[in-house]
Amino acid sequence: MRSYSLTSPAKINLYLEIIGDRPDGYHELAMVLQSIDLADRIDLRSISTDTISVRCAHPQVPSDCTNLAYQAAALIAAEFPDAFAQFGGVEITIDKHIPIAAGLAGGSSNAAAVLVGLDLLWQLGLTQSELEELGSQLGSDVPFCIAGGSAIATGRGEKLSPLPSIDNLYVVLGKYRNLDVATAWAYQTYRAQYGNSYVAGKQDLKARAAAVHSSSMVQAIIHEDPIAIGQRLHNDLERVVIPAYPQILLLKETFQTAGCLGAMMSGSGSTVFALCDSEQQAQKVQQQGRNLAQPKDLDLFIARLTSTGIQVLSSDKD
Ligand code: ATP
Repeated sequence: MRSYSLTSPAKINLYLEIIGDRPDGYHELAMVLQSIDLADRIDLRSISTDTISVRCAHPQVPSDCTNLAYQAAALIAAEFPDAFAQFGGVEITIDKHIPIAAGLAGGSSNAAAVLVGLDLLWQLGLTQSELEELGSQLGSDVPFCIAGGSAIATGRGEKLSPLPSIDNLYVVLGKYRNLDVATAWAYQTYRAQYGNSYVAGKQDLKARAAAVHSSSMVQAIIHEDPIAIGQRLHNDLERVVIPAYPQILLLKETFQTAGCLGAMMSGSGSTVFALCDSEQQAQKVQQQGRNLAQPKDLDLFIARLTSTGIQVLSSDKD
């Protein structure tokens, strides 16, 4: 049997701006996405039956066809029926380390790893842009997760422009164990509260998106200026998520007081990250997080920014 093991890293949003409504019902976004080295491990193994199966010990991760990793395999099997017939089914094992429903794109990254791994297992020879196109059918964050690193993401988040690597920085991630924010709820609530300020009309959308490309965050990354990156962290979704979950603000303020470069909620939350210029600074900030009132409810991780997305760890090609 042939097998591949892959690393499936999480992402944070250094910048998330909601521009307006799209005709397809999604939001038009301008984001800066960044991979971090907090990662799941995905093992793919060819099996003799023509089935797709998912195994994951984490109680919140489904093992059925609702798992994004399963959906990625089903998509490839449907697109390449000859390869599916030739190589047979696949068993997907997910070793979960990325917190669930945390705004860290754990499920999207797992789907990206399955696309990359099945391309190799079934010898499809797909290009990165072909993989990204398949990924965009599964979820807006999946295309970014394939190559990872630092990138501007526009459209639904699937149109990517790579940025220079800033992988010498660290983050402290704080996630309340019992505080899961549903991404769909966050965007729907934002639309309900702020939809009247959306940019309308195709031309306006283009003009605004162009302005974001030269935004101060992008400039700060291009100039590798950690202090400016920390000052320019931005996330529109904080406007709806923080009022509903004040603990997120408490955590953000705790991180800021501890002396990091900047702190922000990632994606739709509930993870808050503190950007740090050294591992020592990250350890200090993590300690401040531990001193919070209910530390038992709070998971804290230190991660490093990374310039890579899905990577093969090992393969067995008997
Ligand atoms: P995003 O940042 O892309 O919005 P997220 O990090 O907030 O994603 P996920 O961890 O991907 O959220 O999980 C969201 C939901 O998706 C979970 O509640 C879980 O039931 C479901 N799910 C499906 N497949 C997976 C997977 N492979 N890993 C984790 N969750 C998954």
